Amino acid sequence: MTNTTWFTDTFPSDDDMLVAYFCAEFGLAAAIPIYAGGLGILAGDHLKAASDLGVPLVGIGLFYYDGYFQQRVDAAGQHEAYTERTGADVGADPVTDGAGSPLRISVELPTGPVSAVLWRLAVGSVTLLLLDANIPENTPADREITARLYGGDRVMRIRQELLLGIGGMRALAAAGITPTVFHINEGHSVFLQLERLRLLIDAGRSLEDALALIRRNSIFTTHTPVPAGNEVFSDDIAAEHLADAAASIGMSMHQLAALGKLSDEPGFGLTPLALRTTSRANGVSRLHGEVARTMWRGLWPHRDTAHVPIGSVTNGAHVQTWLEPGIATLVRDAGVDLARPAAARFERATEIPDAALWRAHRSNVARLVDLANARGAVAGAHPRLDPHALTIGFSRRFATYKRAGLLFRDPDRLARLLSAPDAPVQVILAGKAHPGDSDGKALIAMVAELATDPRMAGRVVFVPGYDMAIGAHILQGADVWLNTPRLPMEASGTSGMKAALNGALNLSILDGWWAEGYDPTIGWAIDDGSSAGDEAAQDTRDHASLLDLLEHEVVPRFYARGGDGVPLGWTTMMRRSIARVGAEFSATRMVGEYTERMYVPAHRQGTTN
Ligand SMILES: *Cc1c(COP(=O)(O)O)cnc(C)c1O
Repeated sequence: MTNTTWFTDTFPSDDDMLVAYFCAEFGLAAAIPIYAGGLGILAGDHLKAASDLGVPLVGIGLFYYDGYFQQRVDAAGQHEAYTERTGADVGADPVTDGAGSPLRISVELPTGPVSAVLWRLAVGSVTLLLLDANIPENTPADREITARLYGGDRVMRIRQELLLGIGGMRALAAAGITPTVFHINEGHSVFLQLERLRLLIDAGRSLEDALALIRRNSIFTTHTPVPAGNEVFSDDIAAEHLADAAASIGMSMHQLAALGKLSDEPGFGLTPLALRTTSRANGVSRLHGEVARTMWRGLWPHRDTAHVPIGSVTNGAHVQTWLEPGIATLVRDAGVDLARPAAARFERATEIPDAALWRAHRSNVARLVDLANARGAVAGAHPRLDPHALTIGFSRRFATYKRAGLLFRDPDRLARLLSAPDAPVQVILAGKAHPGDSDGKALIAMVAELATDPRMAGRVVFVPGYDMAIGAHILQGADVWLNTPRLPMEASGTSGMKAALNGALNLSILDGWWAEGYDPTIGWAIDDGSSAGDEAAQDTRDHASLLDLLEHEVVPRFYARGGDGVPLGWTTMMRRSIARVGAEFSATRMVGEYTERMYVPAHRQGTTN
């Protein structure tokens, strides 16, 4: 570490800025299982990139002692198991006061006060604070608030979110940390704004002034264009759990409830509350920004959609986390300065020698094939993967909109593709369905069963136990990264960026980041990017487009070899993909953009008034 950073060089007079970054999940490493998928891993990458750039930032989340579940798969599909951990088990340090005793905060819930202690994790120069309610002075029911990520019912969820938002603010205060900017990363943590209002009102401000003040230095990032993904509580649950908070800011529950609605629909939505209490809001790709403006335009009845104040900052991936070391060496040798992420000159990766790139990547495929042959032998499957075959990777949450089943709609046509004598193809999948998502679980059971289908010849393999480590193996060892979300439901789709960085070519619906990242010299676009027609028509068309592309473009290009066995047409695309994605879709580009466009302006507005 040096004394100057990108941040101090770029913003020398803003050294008193401090961003509080709130999120319900953080994916930092497989050994710290407090993430479910893309949102958490993005939050982890955000902290790492903030550290790289020297952006003053503190993360706030919950320490779930059961974490997210471990997955086992048999013929019936997915099964969940949980292992209890303490913060110390994952390398976190207890936060203590001057006298060495643990700091404690508490939050009032309808069932009484709940206390939490704090754990501190160092992410480079960034601190992540995690609240933990699993302490003896809480009732057994209250201890469970921080048991499972996205576990339990709606009441459990609002209790978790009150602890995260209100408790998170109290944790910062107890630890003597005074942020100047508040980033609400997805609506789960928005209740922090109620605590900020209370503090200002207790200090003598009017409600109107307090609202104007908290808006100035607050940022909200929405992550889901799927309506069901936007948290809504029933009016009853909201009234029961928010009445005290409403009273503490001099609002009637009726007034507070109105902030959680687009207009007068039933339910209390966290996204409307977040949009109403922040002055800067964004989606996570250009296309998602557009979708979000349409979804939430009702909050700005006097504006047309194009002028709805929700912008976009396209997500990015933390290069040093996801780049496989062998490929990283080639990237460095080509002149990319990985040690200086803000000035890495990733364009130089186009100079990587084709044969060396092919060799390094084949060894990553071989490593993945070994792993998948060993671990994929579940539920009656007998994997017969081959390190030389064209390898398609698919690894992410099994949410139904991601359509993990699309590739498998016509098993006979797929079987012919997989078993072509001179041009074999294989598919490696992994992913978890939320324990309460029976459709997602049915998809896993379907794929696990297909893996045992003799027509597939052991060339479709589901690897159970998906986590960051298995995800990394698959995205580093895939030749093709498949992404088949139902347009326009994929906000971003960061796994495609990580795969591209490692030389996989994306074969994807033109949704999320791929709508701006796609270029025929680095990958393929499934269908024409139109969502016209009903869902069945969309599935039929996208499936046909996917299989046509595989048969006529992807497979022939992969197997067009020179005398040395290197497919130059393919490796040329790999080089361009690595260079383009490294330059444009890194987490440092993303955090740099948040800093320039949102954090620093919010900081200046918040402190000069
Ligand atoms: C990046 C990442 C994701 C994100 O998946 P998308 O479907 O692309 O949003 C999911 N899981 C893991 C392990 C990841 O690293």
